[in-house]
Amino acid sequence: MNIILLGPPGAGKGTQAEAITHRLGIPQVSTGDIIRAAIKKQTPRGLEFKTYTDAGALVPDALVHALVEDRLTEPDCASGFLLDGFPRTVVQAKWLDGMLEARGRSISHVLLIVVDDAVILERIVGRGLDPVTGHIYHTKFDPPPTPEIAARLIHRRDDTADVLSLRLREYHNKTAPLIPYYENAGLLRRVDGFGPVDDVKRRIADVLEGGG
Ligand code: ADP
Ligand code: AMP
Repeated sequence: MNIILLGPPGAGKGTQAEAITHRLGIPQVSTGDIIRAAIKKQTPRGLEFKTYTDAGALVPDALVHALVEDRLTEPDCASGFLLDGFPRTVVQAKWLDGMLEARGRSISHVLLIVVDDAVILERIVGRGLDPVTGHIYHTKFDPPPTPEIAARLIHRRDDTADVLSLRLREYHNKTAPLIPYYENAGLLRRVDGFGPVDDVKRRIADVLEGGG
């Protein structure tokens, strides 16, 4: 399966990606994670990315295309992949279609995790990434089980109320047009992203296992 997870920041894409990729044995390809890794390494490209992520703005399409092409052509993506955070614009979606088509491949599922902007701020400000296991915790909804884990959690620089409002604006202006794009392609399935993580997991499994 070649899957795209779509949804606003804080919808639960990374959380659900962990479960889906574990179940299906396909890799998660998160452009946000790839971009943050480049920023951490302080490569010239990484420093350029940082100016965009700190401002809650999307990185220019052409720069992200190169990252995605490199990653999707690695051997572990040969039997499927889960894209998280890509595409984010219609230009990226069209580029992805062309890149896959040239390799005789295509997207099989687009899952839109639907949540209101109202729940997102609480999810974002409480988010913490465990750098050891990669698990995404939340201070209230998925608290770290030990003080050691709590002490090492990383809070993203862009997970503040101010930057979130800019990221949400980018989402509504540039990413939301992907909803009709994939609806017209007959690929889009909506999944209710409210309620406990396990409930959302079950809804996603139903869509994927129901042939949807
Ligand atoms: P995204 O990848 O879409 O930005 P994440 O998966 O990182 O979102 O989730 C954002 C935060 O919300 C995380 O701290 C995560 O633990 C929490 N979270 C994810 N799904 C749910 C849910 N269904 N209910 C409550 N909190 C959730
Ligand atoms: P995310 O981890 O998906 O929330 O992404 C964090 C940040 O990385 C975004 O706010 C953007 O600045 C950048 N980013 C991630 N994916 C993309 C993409 N597909 N296109 C442009 N910018 C991206």
